[in-house]
Amino acid sequence: MRLATIKELLASKNLLQETTIKGWVRTFRSNRFIALNDGSTLSTIQCVVDFENFDEELLKKINTGAAVKVTGTLVESQGRGQSVEIQVSALEVLGEADPEEYPIQPKKHSLEFLREKAHLRIRTNTFAAIMRVRSTLSFAIHNYFRENGFNYFHAPIITGSDAEGAGEMFRVTTLDEKNPPLNEEGEVNYKEDFFGKETNLTVSGQLEAEAYAMALGKVYTFGPTFRAENSNTSRHLAEFWMIEPEMAFFDLDANMDLAEDFIKSVISYTLEHCQEDLEFLEKRLLDEEKSKPQAQRSEMPLIEKLKFVANNNFKRVSYTEAIDILKNCKPNKKKKFSYIIEEWGADLQSEHERYLVEKHFKCPVILFDYPAKIKAFYMRLNEDGKTVRAMDILFPGIGEIVGGSQREERLDVLKAKVKELGIDEKELWWYLDLRKFGTAEHSGFGLGFERLVLFATGMGNIRDVIPFPRTPQNAEF
Ligand code: ATP
Ligand code: MN
Repeated sequence: MRLATIKELLASKNLLQETTIKGWVRTFRSNRFIALNDGSTLSTIQCVVDFENFDEELLKKINTGAAVKVTGTLVESQGRGQSVEIQVSALEVLGEADPEEYPIQPKKHSLEFLREKAHLRIRTNTFAAIMRVRSTLSFAIHNYFRENGFNYFHAPIITGSDAEGAGEMFRVTTLDEKNPPLNEEGEVNYKEDFFGKETNLTVSGQLEAEAYAMALGKVYTFGPTFRAENSNTSRHLAEFWMIEPEMAFFDLDANMDLAEDFIKSVISYTLEHCQEDLEFLEKRLLDEEKSKPQAQRSEMPLIEKLKFVANNNFKRVSYTEAIDILKNCKPNKKKKFSYIIEEWGADLQSEHERYLVEKHFKCPVILFDYPAKIKAFYMRLNEDGKTVRAMDILFPGIGEIVGGSQREERLDVLKAKVKELGIDEKELWWYLDLRKFGTAEHSGFGLGFERLVLFATGMGNIRDVIPFPRTPQNAEF
């Protein structure tokens, strides 16, 4: 007999069918009602056991967390709260879970406690819902790009270029840490290392994606990236997944159009396909917010917020306009910000980004044309000579979710920039080649996948939307 999933059974109209299912016990009430979950859906199916027909020793093993095999008949439910249930005829315990030891009991556990049990937290409704949404979102992303003529491109994870400048990197080496070979200057000689040079885990696949866009037209990466930044925030991970589309013949406007359409589209897809999980997460959030002061509560319930983002235009504002707003806003004048905005050229902190999004515009915002000084070397210089064609997308509750730009395609301008920053041209020889041979205007952006999952699930800490988070001082599991 084919193993049915609980999701299928709950949707089934085919009553009185004989079925076998396997899953994990959530609760066992009154020695009679097993709430069984198999991960196929948030819901449990009620399995009704006539205890007189079963061995007492067997029933003692039906504890929360135990894996069981249930055979029985699908019938209309007598009780409230479910339409169908299983009248159990045979029961087998596949794997026990000692209630004295099993930490995931049917009660409220704090997210902090569950982070320490990352291998078991997926057995809670909250984490199963988050991870199903995460899975659906990643499918939606691939789907979107496929439907829009993009090629999926696998950027290397070990990289030899150290000029990206996106953050601190993790070194990859096979040298003997106690006794590394030294060069004449007494420094570690990476010529003797595995790759014959210094290598690191990638912080971004962008530079390589540019090479591919200049032949395949439209490409995207969706892979892990690594940043050894010691920023212990609720929005930074040391290992996170990034989506980086790169498009030939796209200027900044086309880039912004794509980014906006892309985000709206994957959120709509998730709204459509994860209704049950999103309803659960919305309720969870409302419960959690009851204990917070009014001012910290979100203005919209989760699903309404997602619909709002999917159905409304993002506000596009230049950096210069944003600075004017920020310079004159109340929290700046009253010195409520940790970093006071004094003049044009200031780098925006998350507090400023969130002010613009949450207090001023009250919708997602795309900021563009940033000062060249605070952005990466590869962004295209504007005619004014001081701003670059950068764009960041800012989201409520999150801050920056996307960072992108039109890339500098003019060899002489790029070379001058590289020189100004003191970067060795030789390090970038292949990247400069892209401007030497068949150069063309092109653009792209990077979207931190976990920040999108944070937004879609309404969770507050990025550690709770990736299966096994890596953060400073934490790589258990
Ligand atoms: P932030 O200012 O928030 O640190 P960033 O400017 O360093 O971001 P980019 O280098 O533009 O970010 O990276 C592109 C996207 O990757 C960001 O918009 C964000 O969504 C995501 N991102 C960046 N750093 C991290 C991180 N440490 N953990 C998770 N996501 C990240
Ligand atoms: Mn950063």
